[in-house]
Amino acid sequence: MDWIERVGNLRQWTNNGVRAPHKPLLMLYALGRFQHGPDQALRYTDIERDLKELLRDYGPPRDTSPSYPFHHLTNDGVWEVRTADGGSSPGSGVGALRASGAEGRLVPGLRTALSAEPDLLGRLAHVLLDTHFPPSLHTDIAAAVGLDLESADGAVRTEVTARDRRRAAELRRQVLVAYEYRCAFCGFDGAIGRVPVGLEAAHVRWWAFRGADDLANALCLCSLHHKLFDRGVLGLDGGRRIVVSQEFVGRGAAARSQVLDLVDRSLIGPQHGSDPVAAENVAWHTEQVFRGKARMAQVAQEA
Ligand SMILES: [Zn+2]
Repeated sequence: MDWIERVGNLRQWTNNGVRAPHKPLLMLYALGRFQHGPDQALRYTDIERDLKELLRDYGPPRDTSPSYPFHHLTNDGVWEVRTADGGSSPGSGVGALRASGAEGRLVPGLRTALSAEPDLLGRLAHVLLDTHFPPSLHTDIAAAVGLDLESADGAVRTEVTARDRRRAAELRRQVLVAYEYRCAFCGFDGAIGRVPVGLEAAHVRWWAFRGADDLANALCLCSLHHKLFDRGVLGLDGGRRIVVSQEFVGRGAAARSQVLDLVDRSLIGPQHGSDPVAAENVAWHTEQVFRGKARMAQVAQEA
């Protein structure tokens, strides 16, 4: 059984660039729990809340019940559900899953393989993360599902990412030049000597969702704004002005100046002659990543 392929194919659930990371998030959660207790079954009522939070934090803006992946992942040959009386999954209804005492766990063949091959868990986790999320979120999601990637990582990583690193380096070079080594949101232009620091090339439409490696799909962002953009706190409107999610809360002066004050500002760059971000990529980000409603521009409150 090729578990990597099987887990990689969960992707088929996502069509036309619509993000549906529900199964991948449950799978990552199950791997995280397996790492700490290989023999433990996960009762729906015990993990419902964790799953709900994961879906809310890392899923698309639409709400989905955790009962969906809990039941539907059984169709992918990696996860099984049993009720308290030994029956199979009662379906994706929340009430039935709760009342039947449904418990889920990785299928026996996968559990055996994970125990026999020490680096398999890390490889599966990376396949799931690479396929469904941008790199800026990988460590956050791993932490949220309790996955210890450090101890799961083997030599496997390097071979997978050599080509990706070259690709990323080339895009970064183009983006830094186009945006003149400045964050397109805040203008941050820090360097150590002549080397820019804390500046990154951010994909607008995620690479995992067929986002291109070109200027029409990239922004030069500082590390903070890259993270907030990938988390859907920051976005762009049709006129390429900055929008900030109402869900973002920050009370201090720094949060205000670095995030809240960005509302309705124009992007800084790219320089004349470089492609700006394309409208269709902005539309994908708005639809699939940006969280909830945009804040209104703040009127000056204090004199
Ligand atoms: Zn910035």
